[in-house]
Amino acid sequence: MDGEKILIQANVSDERRSDGFVYIETFNQTQKMQVALRKLALFWGLAILSILIPVFHFVLVPLFFALGFFFAHRGYKSEGQVLSGSTTCPHCHTEVVVRKAELNWPITEICQGCARVVRIEKA
Ligand SMILES: [Zn+2]
Repeated sequence: MDGEKILIQANVSDERRSDGFVYIETFNQTQKMQVALRKLALFWGLAILSILIPVFHFVLVPLFFALGFFFAHRGYKSEGQVLSGSTTCPHCHTEVVVRKAELNWPITEICQGCARVVRIEKA
């Protein structure tokens, strides 16, 4: 499972651009639904476990219940997964490694060289 290579451009919210690439895996409708259901199950599982915690359960149970909906919705809206990637910071030219994460364009990473937020968009 190598994913699909996408050429990208990185920017730090000004006119400077630098090139790079990311490998992504796009999910189909069924996979998106699976991601959403897994998240729902995870958070509702936490909600059920929280019932056992005295006092805090008043907060935690509804919180995890709501978070379940939130992350399930976000997971469903996500187009897939970023597997890996690389670009350079347009400001300080440090290499920016794209970590494995949920795919939501634009991808953002923090530059390790100058701590700027690097926005990564499809070229
Ligand atoms: Zn930088």
